[in-house]
Amino acid sequence: MHRRDFVRSLVGASVLAAAPRSFAQSPIATVAVVPLGPFPPAFLAEIDAGLRAELGVAVLLLPPSPLPRAAWYPPRRRYRAERLIDFVRPLVRPPATRVLGVTEVDISTTAHGVSDWGVLGLGDLGGLGCVISTFRCRMNTPSEAQVHFRMVTTCIHEIGHTLGLEHCPDTTCLMTDARGLVRTVDRTTGHLCARCRARLGLR
Ligand SMILES: [Zn+2]
Ligand SMILES: [Zn+2]
Repeated sequence: MHRRDFVRSLVGASVLAAAPRSFAQSPIATVAVVPLGPFPPAFLAEIDAGLRAELGVAVLLLPPSPLPRAAWYPPRRRYRAERLIDFVRPLVRPPATRVLGVTEVDISTTAHGVSDWGVLGLGDLGGLGCVISTFRCRMNTPSEAQVHFRMVTTCIHEIGHTLGLEHCPDTTCLMTDARGLVRTVDRTTGHLCARCRARLGLR
């Protein structure tokens, strides 16, 4: 998922115009990761390793924060993703250039013509902030490895949006539109396609 906002005009163009680079050069972003509510340390380690490996970004683990009451959506007893992003966005301060909120609770946003649609994650397109939830990653699998795969893939997907990537027509690319469904994530390689890598200036 993504949403457009004014930040895109400030940072999106320069990111997409970047020359190809290797990971030996400075990272394309420094991502601050903040747990919202209780979050397993083992999951944080997976996210840290996954973001570094796929995007070559630097990762900064921030202390956990309680879930903000302002994001609670009583009718469905879950949290609104865009309000969680509003909450974490101010955490982008040097050396961080992006922020990723991670949570175990169910999150939702307005999408696909539905006012409250459950999602795996949401990110500002060409912006600063994104959020992911493990809630849907746990659906219909007994495998902790598969939960990790879905969670890390979703993290890279949402950070990809903040770096200016839109949804990819290649359904095996992790930037494909999951539409909140884990089976869509399961069909991806867990990696960016060559086209998406090139757009980020990654080899
Ligand atoms: Zn998306
Ligand atoms: Zn792609």
